[in-house]
Amino acid sequence: MAQKYEVRQMQQTQQVKPNPYENALEQLRIAAGYLKLDEGVHQILANPKRQLTVSLPVKMDSGKTKVFTGYRVQYNDARGPFKGGIRYHPGVTLDEVKALSAWMTWKCSVANIPFGGAKGGIICDPKQMSQGELERLTRRFGAAIAPIIGPYKDIPAPDVYTNSQTMAWILDTYSTLEGVMTPAVITGKPISLGGSLGRDKATGRGAVYTTVEAAKVNKVNLKGAKFAVQGFGNAGSNFAEILQTYGAKLMGASDSKGSIMSKTGMDADKLIAHKEKTGSVVGFPGSQQISEKELLQMDVDILSPAALENSILPDIAKGIKAKIVTECANGPTTPEADKILHGNKVFVIPDILANSGGVIVSYLEWVQNLERNYWTVEEVNSMLEKKITSAFHDVHEASVKHDVDMRTGAMIVGVGRVAEAVKTLGVFP
Ligand code: GLU
Repeated sequence: MAQKYEVRQMQQTQQVKPNPYENALEQLRIAAGYLKLDEGVHQILANPKRQLTVSLPVKMDSGKTKVFTGYRVQYNDARGPFKGGIRYHPGVTLDEVKALSAWMTWKCSVANIPFGGAKGGIICDPKQMSQGELERLTRRFGAAIAPIIGPYKDIPAPDVYTNSQTMAWILDTYSTLEGVMTPAVITGKPISLGGSLGRDKATGRGAVYTTVEAAKVNKVNLKGAKFAVQGFGNAGSNFAEILQTYGAKLMGASDSKGSIMSKTGMDADKLIAHKEKTGSVVGFPGSQQISEKELLQMDVDILSPAALENSILPDIAKGIKAKIVTECANGPTTPEADKILHGNKVFVIPDILANSGGVIVSYLEWVQNLERNYWTVEEVNSMLEKKITSAFHDVHEASVKHDVDMRTGAMIVGVGRVAEAVKTLGVFP
């Protein structure tokens, strides 16, 4: 009896939160079929090259010492140094970081920038920690990963609940240990330390550029188009702010505290100011609170999941009314939900394309650091637009050629380029 109960519990949990690494492997398996990948190459691409787990003792403000767990997974570097963000979240797991590092590998390849893929994470709740505690945790993590990062080895960046200040602490820690100031070891830095203009809004801006192309393909007029955003953090709020400059109207938004909608539309800039002031989108004047499911299934033209993995599960997918789904988040849609969306003719701009603006401008930041030559924000934005628009068309062409959805198209392009590099390098020794 007890055993049966446990099995049921497990099935339920699995249904609620599928393992993101399993999802990533399933996406790879589908692409491998279309690419007719050699079994050995497929195996190499299904395994991270290196996984580092570190214990991080930190002196808390209370005077007590607490030990945190951190990860850095370096997935594949056949096309160039490892690249990917670091996230701070209570729900971080090794399998999540592995999945995110695989997605970074395909993302850099789809964007055609010379990087491999990596990801880092620390299991912690940054909202419950003071600035001092966060700084000590970050510096200890920076020291723990210092032996495996570097401007030509692995270049971290921000991700969920980390920002330019977090990057500054890692830069200082790494540079102090190395004895030389090394701006190119990290991207998403403050401008005063060699960060790039335009990097702060790059993920949202890039997602808008891909949405503009998707709107052309699907004959959606952005002027007057309605949209909703799940997750009003860096990517989601900038996506909303920039998309509305094309005449689109923000009808719904959410964050970890709740979801809201407005019948007449909301001004994204005012909503950003409200969240800055109150800590949440909830309570925005003129809005009403709804459930997260209602938000995702709103009657809009464009929906952007911009929070965490596993937001669009099969049950949610069935009721999605949007014509275009722009994935600002990494891994928001499960493979099962993908099939439903494709069947319902929803045009999904997959994460590894839609949110690649962040890492594209990270690449531009890294080049500027190495060349010691800095560009204007107009120059950066125009290079971003060119790169991401050309990536969109590479993916769209692949999806038309193979008669598959955009995710599979993106995987065919992304995995295909990495596979070619892996095959050409050969197997050591
Ligand atoms: N964390 C971002 C992502 O998931 C940016 C990574 C980077 O710039 O290296 O794409």
